[in-house]
Amino acid sequence: MAIGDGNGWVDCRYGHRHWGRHGAAGLLLLRHLAAPQVLLQLRAGWTHEGGRWGLVGGARDSHETIAQAALREAMEEAGVDPAAVHVVAQQVGADHVDWSYTYVIGVAVADVRPRLLTAESDDLRWVDVEDVPDLPLHRGLASAWDALVPGITQVAAGAAAAPEAQD
Ligand SMILES: [Zn+2]
Repeated sequence: MAIGDGNGWVDCRYGHRHWGRHGAAGLLLLRHLAAPQVLLQLRAGWTHEGGRWGLVGGARDSHETIAQAALREAMEEAGVDPAAVHVVAQQVGADHVDWSYTYVIGVAVADVRPRLLTAESDDLRWVDVEDVPDLPLHRGLASAWDALVPGITQVAAGAAAAPEAQD
């Protein structure tokens, strides 16, 4: 067992210091796909990039897949039931060889009411996808957002088409 063995800093070869000895993952959780909303976390003031909005997520443990790490962090930080999330895609947001960050795109398949469970968050909120760029975002999410939008659009369109396919 290696619970929590991902917790720690990594000095990558590009001279940054990153959290997550085995990399990190964030859950990009969507709901209401006809007009999609995404679950965002307002990072507490004392944290790195505090006062900015980001995704729930964190360090991956060595025994976990990237998706498992994202779902575990979402449960620990926001009380998101993993059974309420259908993971549909993964997208690498940053790959610095010694460390990487992956976005796990999921759809809420049940009612998800996020709860503040850690001191790392000041707020948790469902935000209209179209309003996300207007918020003060964590720099990682801000720089990745434009590359994430096509995937979000595809997920929303696919889900919207699903009922027709069942006719
Ligand atoms: Zn780096």
